[in-house]
Amino acid sequence: MIPTSFDYVAPTSVDEALSVLAEAGDDAKVLAGGQSLLPILRMRLNAPEKVVDLGRIEALRGVRDGGDHIAIGAMTPYCDIVDDALVREHALLLAKAVETVADPQIRHRGTVGGALVHADPAGDVGAPVLALEATLVVVGPGGERTVAASEFFQDLFETSVGDGELLTEIRIPKHTGWGASYEKFVRVSHQWSIVAVAATVRLDGGSIAEARIGLTNMGSTPLRATAVEQALVGKGASDLAEACSAAAEGTNPPSDLNGDADYRRHLAGVLARRAVQKAMEG
Ligand SMILES: Cc1cc2nc3c(=O)[nH]c(=O)nc-3n(C[C@H](O)[C@H](O)[C@H](O)COP(=O)(O)OP(=O)(O)OC[C@H]3O[C@@H](n4cnc5c(N)ncnc54)[C@H](O)[C@@H]3O)c2cc1C
Repeated sequence: MIPTSFDYVAPTSVDEALSVLAEAGDDAKVLAGGQSLLPILRMRLNAPEKVVDLGRIEALRGVRDGGDHIAIGAMTPYCDIVDDALVREHALLLAKAVETVADPQIRHRGTVGGALVHADPAGDVGAPVLALEATLVVVGPGGERTVAASEFFQDLFETSVGDGELLTEIRIPKHTGWGASYEKFVRVSHQWSIVAVAATVRLDGGSIAEARIGLTNMGSTPLRATAVEQALVGKGASDLAEACSAAAEGTNPPSDLNGDADYRRHLAGVLARRAVQKAMEG
């Protein structure tokens, strides 16, 4: 199908984008990589009068060292994240998760910020960002505010980014030297997660000193498996099964043609054990 007609604007600064959004009100929609928005427009599930393309705002692209954190511009495409030296050194979990998103074409167009604001519970970026305890920078008519990842995801396809606001940056505290793995269960390749587990661990000797675990598609938002994180402390590689069996605790997974809720709960435990085991290997 063809979208309804709309005006197209491509501002070159965040301030310019904000004033276009303020002027257009409810009739505007922000365009990042278009990998979720364009299908929505083509199916006429949304019919904005104005599309505000962020693609020419250079300030929203790239990864920089922020001292105790790395800062990722919202318009940084997936493909730039996967091989970025700062991301691989300090937030390996994010690189591992992004490697699994769709196919190379989508990874060249899709952006990390677009994925976060789209907030698909089956999307692969939310769980690592949550597990890594990122802070998200949001700007709007009232100025700039920062939102903890734990507050950012509000419901299915809903975040704390309001009308007229933009997500500009994702700040991830450095997890230097932490091992990481993203275990994604799919029926066919290049698809959204049926369930996935994001795990990153810091080792002391041969056992786990700290663990962070995020769950994809186990509820209407990405979730943290805090009971597993706590149970893993002090455990060695041969000692993971019991701690990981609590992965589905407190979750509310969907039932659909890919699997019912009980099956997803089972998957969460299995994938958590695999993810932690691989994370311990580096
Ligand atoms: C065939 C296919 C397979 C896919 N497979 C996967 C997969 O395996 N895993 C996965 O995680 N995803 C998958 N996706 C989704 C993909 O990752 C999208 O790129 C992502 O969901 C959206 O990013 P985008 O940059 O394209 O955003 P867009 O589609 O441009 O925008 C998405 C939404 O976010 C809003 N928005 C975007 N940027 C901002 C911003 N900076 N501030 C405020 N609002 C903003 C837009 O208005 C829109 O509502 C797939 C998509 C397709 C088409």
